[in-house]
Amino acid sequence: MSFVVAIDGPAGTGKGTITSLISKEMGLVNIDTGATYRCVALYAIRNNIKIEEKEKIIASLDNIKIDMKNEKGKQKVYLNGEDVTSEIRNKDVTLIVSQVSSIVEVRTKMVEVQRNLAKGKDVIMEGRDITTVVFPNADVKIYMDADEEERVNRRYKELQQKGSDMTYEEVLKNIQIRDKNDKEKEVGALKIAKDAIVIDTTKKSIKQVKNEVKKIIKDKQKEIQHRIKVYTPRPDTKWKHFVYKITRVFLKLLYRMAYRVEKVGEENIEDNKPYIICANHINYLDAAAIVIFTKRKVYFVGKEDLCRIKIINWLAHVFDCIPIKRNTQDLDAMKRCLKVLKENEVLGIFPEGTRNGMAKGAEVKNGASFMALRTGSPIIPVGIKGSFKPFTKVTINYGKPIDVTKYDKNDKNSLDKLTKEVMENIVELTK
Ligand code: C5P
Repeated sequence: MSFVVAIDGPAGTGKGTITSLISKEMGLVNIDTGATYRCVALYAIRNNIKIEEKEKIIASLDNIKIDMKNEKGKQKVYLNGEDVTSEIRNKDVTLIVSQVSSIVEVRTKMVEVQRNLAKGKDVIMEGRDITTVVFPNADVKIYMDADEEERVNRRYKELQQKGSDMTYEEVLKNIQIRDKNDKEKEVGALKIAKDAIVIDTTKKSIKQVKNEVKKIIKDKQKEIQHRIKVYTPRPDTKWKHFVYKITRVFLKLLYRMAYRVEKVGEENIEDNKPYIICANHINYLDAAAIVIFTKRKVYFVGKEDLCRIKIINWLAHVFDCIPIKRNTQDLDAMKRCLKVLKENEVLGIFPEGTRNGMAKGAEVKNGASFMALRTGSPIIPVGIKGSFKPFTKVTINYGKPIDVTKYDKNDKNSLDKLTKEVMENIVELTK
């Protein structure tokens, strides 16, 4: 799977400089998407196609092949096999590129070119619509901005260093026109993606911005690593089964030393049938109590944050717990839960979501009811009683299975009605 860092923003915000530095320092492939539009503009100029001749520009797309290569640490842009890295930066190209990039057919083709250039690679891409159109699901999304005056100054200095003859006024006008064009485009207009991190570079040095962006990328990479570590179930091996059994016996022993555990109504759970156990959540130790003492294996759903603690992550893997990111639509977790039920196994969930949720007035979650209605699996309400103070009694009270097929799964009120029935049963079982 590839890793994508997408950066958008108007001209002169420092996107290009930052992208190029980070690409070298972090080993990400740099794809300058503006260069692809510049190639189309250069091709039009070379073939005497005027900017008004839209149809001709569209037709020329079939004759254009763009490639980007990293040579001696520098990015080179190739148009039909010719190195045009410098030429695409010239004044004539700069003056028309924004209009060229406003042609919808050009954009469609260039988005395809850009996606192909990035395919299977870990990339950092900058442009105008990378976070919104080219890679709307990018791992990192950044929008860079800066005051107009600052952007014009930067561009003017840069052009002067390159020996350009553009005057300050020309640069200012060009940036203003490009900004307007880029923001008002029919397709692929420059805008801030909802989930993009905005960085204003006006008063910041290159180093400051670079470090800020690097930190955002590193944090994301760490989060992805954590997710892989937590979410990827360990393969079902004989060794895993052995460790599961031994750990279960060991934990049972510890529990019995600390508490007087009593089970009531366990006969309500039959073999070889799928069930969803829904219990009240009073203590961190209650999930473990259900997992350890229920005669059948229970795949418990727990918040993934807990797995940041090494020992808990280890135990979660041994017991095949299903980590879930709270308050989001965690599709990975949902898929694993449905798989458990389809395989006639037992799933465990706390509908309260958090400890003593009912008492705190927290909204009860509908996830268990949703899965029950979707798969037709009965729900076993469970009431846990006890204070979890050492040497006291802890009772696990298994209720009768709730037949969910009496609810119409197409009726949107069924979810709430079923959840209400489950919670009422749980409350009864804790009395
Ligand atoms: O980034 P650069 O200034 O080289 O981009 C040249 C032009 O290409 C921009 O002014 C913008 O009009 C267009 N562009 C675009 N979408 C992108 C990148 C650049 O429309 N993703």
